Amino acid sequence: MTDKAPSPVEGIKERSRFLRGTLEQSLADPVTGALGHDDVRIIKFHGVYQQDDRDLRAERAAQKLEPAYNFMVRIRIPGGVLTPAQWLAVDALAAEHAGAAMRLTTRQSIQLHGVLKRNLKRTIRAINDCLLTTIAACGDVNRTVVCTALPEQSKLHREVYAHAQRVNRHLLPATRAYHEVWLDGEKTEIPAGGEEPIYGATYMPRKFKIGFALPPSNDVDIYANDLAFIAVARDGELVGFNVAVGGGMGMTHGNPRTYPRLAETIGFCRPEQVIAVAEHVVGVQRDFGDRSDRSHARLKYTIDDRGIDWFRGELERRLGFSLEPAVPVRFTHTGDRFGWVTGEDGREHLTLRIPGGRIRDDGERRFRTGLNAIAAVHEGDFRITPNQNLIVANVPPERRADIERLVAEHGLDAFTGVAPLERDAMSCVALPSCGLAMAESERYLPEIAAKVVALLEKHGLEDEEILLRVTGCPNGCARPYVAEIALVGKAPGRYNLFLGGGRTGERLNELVRQNLAEGEILAILDELFADYARGRLPEEGFGDFLHRAGVVGAPAGERRAAAS
Ligand code: SF4
Repeated sequence: MTDKAPSPVEGIKERSRFLRGTLEQSLADPVTGALGHDDVRIIKFHGVYQQDDRDLRAERAAQKLEPAYNFMVRIRIPGGVLTPAQWLAVDALAAEHAGAAMRLTTRQSIQLHGVLKRNLKRTIRAINDCLLTTIAACGDVNRTVVCTALPEQSKLHREVYAHAQRVNRHLLPATRAYHEVWLDGEKTEIPAGGEEPIYGATYMPRKFKIGFALPPSNDVDIYANDLAFIAVARDGELVGFNVAVGGGMGMTHGNPRTYPRLAETIGFCRPEQVIAVAEHVVGVQRDFGDRSDRSHARLKYTIDDRGIDWFRGELERRLGFSLEPAVPVRFTHTGDRFGWVTGEDGREHLTLRIPGGRIRDDGERRFRTGLNAIAAVHEGDFRITPNQNLIVANVPPERRADIERLVAEHGLDAFTGVAPLERDAMSCVALPSCGLAMAESERYLPEIAAKVVALLEKHGLEDEEILLRVTGCPNGCARPYVAEIALVGKAPGRYNLFLGGGRTGERLNELVRQNLAEGEILAILDELFADYARGRLPEEGFGDFLHRAGVVGAPAGERRAAAS
């Protein structure tokens, strides 16, 4: 609700007739590998991004060719859970249409990159054939609902995951457009009242993210979500959820109206109230979010502009009841726990590290072949973690040896023999496929992580679990702003350095220095690691130390300079 004119994207959504746009004509046009202007926006709601290979841009322009257009297809997998049969089906699609590379994402999804326009329809049909979907995996809607991945607290996890699935289903777009465009569904008249009882004709002002966490694991970085449900259990029974609102990682360099923010806890709801809370939080943001400036259109800004008390009041008015006081919860970590874990029900779960989330064969580490071999014999399920790793979950104890043999045969134990910093580091995709990337990220992470580990070794800190994240732009896809060390792309080879996040995802880091080249970043870290090695307290994390030492967290005038 604002007096300012809506952004052009609002018009595109409104004209799209509930996400149909002119997608069918765009897809059928053989002259170009791209879609029409408005359809590039609309197809995001169908889980697809138009991209082009940025490594080839200059060469193709010189040859007077259009950019090498291709598409990223994101599969919606609530809680990251899929069956071995689904895994094999998606792998086959990746082999056929996406250069045999599946990428696990930070929101527990799978992305296929490099799909050509002529193959889009059969790719999406095949995804639906194996009972998965891509609808609303991107776009101004509620995206895939994430949920703590490791099912060691088996009963509680099952319940929390079931809630995540219910919310995921409840907030799916209701339009028939997806069926008409991709699945040759029958074309029906759009009813007079429209097709979207929850979203309306212009959907959300921007993307909307919901997460479910089961303490003590904060693997989902729950406070980075617009809406967070944090499970509260008593005597092993789920009694409800703390509700937190207004998290979000994205910002824009140099625009003070944009910033990362952690979700604030506003109360507690009972399990039977979860759907109503989710629907009405979405409703408040749908009605009050900023539709004139897309960089300022997330729930976090609505809350900061109007106040958290206003937000809670508006939500409770719509709910018709008040949230109860929040219950204290305690998180102990954000990262994954690699290797085998036995659940309360005796089932075994193996968390594998997947570097960069890429499922491919790479020298001795044959992830694609090995995981397919596991899928062929596995009787449980796969779980994609919010840290881009994979759990071979629910292995009957008598089958554990079979899985271990396949892991060894294919070199899938990439979590052993690496420093914790390297093991837990995370990056976004960035170049060459992401159109917003200002600097390298995924391709740079192995190199910079190795150099940071070398510094840690110099100071005897190589066994420390320090969280490093790298992104190619400030949008924050790898949740950099809660890491202890984050590099956020500014220009080719240059990054802004953020320091001081925590190990439990409950504190933002701070911008320390801007536009740094690698040598400058390493010089700063070298000095800070030396201080940390000398002055840390027992069990004190690097981010916590930086706060105590006044490198971050102190008022600007009193802050100790991050030197070099
Ligand atoms: Fe692209 Fe930026 Fe997201 Fe990285 S953080 S994938 S560069 S939008």
